[in-house]
Amino acid sequence: MKVVHLKLKDNSYKIVIGNKILSKLPRLLKTLGLGKDAVMITDRSVEKLYTRKVADVLQSNGFSVKVLAVPPGEKSKTGKTALSLIEQIARFDVGRRIFIVALGGGVIGDLAGFVAAVYKRGVPYVQIPTTLLAQIDSAIGGKTAIDLSVGKNLAGAFYQPKLVFSDVGFLATLDQRQIKNGLAEAVKYGMILDQKLFVYLEKNSEKFLSRDERVLTKVVEECSRIKAGVVCKDEKETEGLRMILNFGHTLGHALENAGGYDRFHHGEAVALGMRMAAYISCRKGMLKAGEAKRLNDLLTLIGLPETFKGVAQKKILDAMHHDKKFVAGKNRFVLARNIGSVQVVSDVALSLIQEAIQKYQS
Ligand code: NAD
Ligand code: ZN
Repeated sequence: MKVVHLKLKDNSYKIVIGNKILSKLPRLLKTLGLGKDAVMITDRSVEKLYTRKVADVLQSNGFSVKVLAVPPGEKSKTGKTALSLIEQIARFDVGRRIFIVALGGGVIGDLAGFVAAVYKRGVPYVQIPTTLLAQIDSAIGGKTAIDLSVGKNLAGAFYQPKLVFSDVGFLATLDQRQIKNGLAEAVKYGMILDQKLFVYLEKNSEKFLSRDERVLTKVVEECSRIKAGVVCKDEKETEGLRMILNFGHTLGHALENAGGYDRFHHGEAVALGMRMAAYISCRKGMLKAGEAKRLNDLLTLIGLPETFKGVAQKKILDAMHHDKKFVAGKNRFVLARNIGSVQVVSDVALSLIQEAIQKYQS
């Protein structure tokens, strides 16, 4: 079992990583002193696979477990679902001291975290992420959110969990597209801060795709360490450092949005966004062509998209202009200097952005 410490002024917590480590969960929870009554928020697909297993481990160690399951997918990340969960929790929470367990992917982590932040102005919660994306990204850092009709993640709070418990054993049932999707974020971490991780992925991504447990654990651990390091220096995105986590996301988010959120998975859009960001970096003389090629080759080796079609350039640019990363009409891109080092650049010329989009549009 590996432990990464996320150190914050007030809300430090552990990220625990390992393979088939569920039996360790009760003791970790007891050490935190969260009480005996767990409300487990999950989605119906994860419920079928893992709720019984997790609940059994907790119940046989003196916890009570109430399971609340919502339909799988982004459509559950709404105010309506959150309020319905809050009502159900309030009816259950009489004479108890509850804590919330978010068991699932990023949708469940964001939603359950939001519910935990809002119910009674904040009750403790723990993250048990079950997708690769959630284990290496969304479960860490305390960003909770629901979607509004005008945009994704527009209502939320920074609200840190008490524990992140990442068992890579959960990843065995994840489909290959989701694994590739999550790996895009791992490549991102390598590009922004960790050349060694990037090289490790170049050498081991095939083993990762075949779910070699040693490689899974190593990558989840390294990515958790990187994300925790960024979050502890910039918990609430006030210092600008957390912005570097958006490498590939300016055009990635725009592509996702322009594609109506069903054409691309997030990681697929981010992979294309990273290819475009690297292109822009090269054209600005910041990144050597050979380094950009290594990024493109790694994304291709993983099986992430090389090009896209069926989304008009104008739609992508419109979506980009509505992004919250735009400040006072100026775009901000995270561009690469090297593998393992990036820089935030404002006001990239529109013509250059168009060129980058065209390059990857088939
Ligand atoms: P998801 O939660 O929808 O999970 C994807 C699918 O996998 C779902 O159908 C789910 O039922 C299924 N699933 C989950 N675990 C499984 C398992 N072990 N085996 C088989 N199937 C499983 O999506 P996601 O990709 O995990 O997360 C996407 C969400 O994360 C988005 O809403 C995004 O906004 C959010 N996000 C948040 C942050 C943050 O910092 N808070 C960062 C990145 C992304
Ligand atoms: Zn992302």
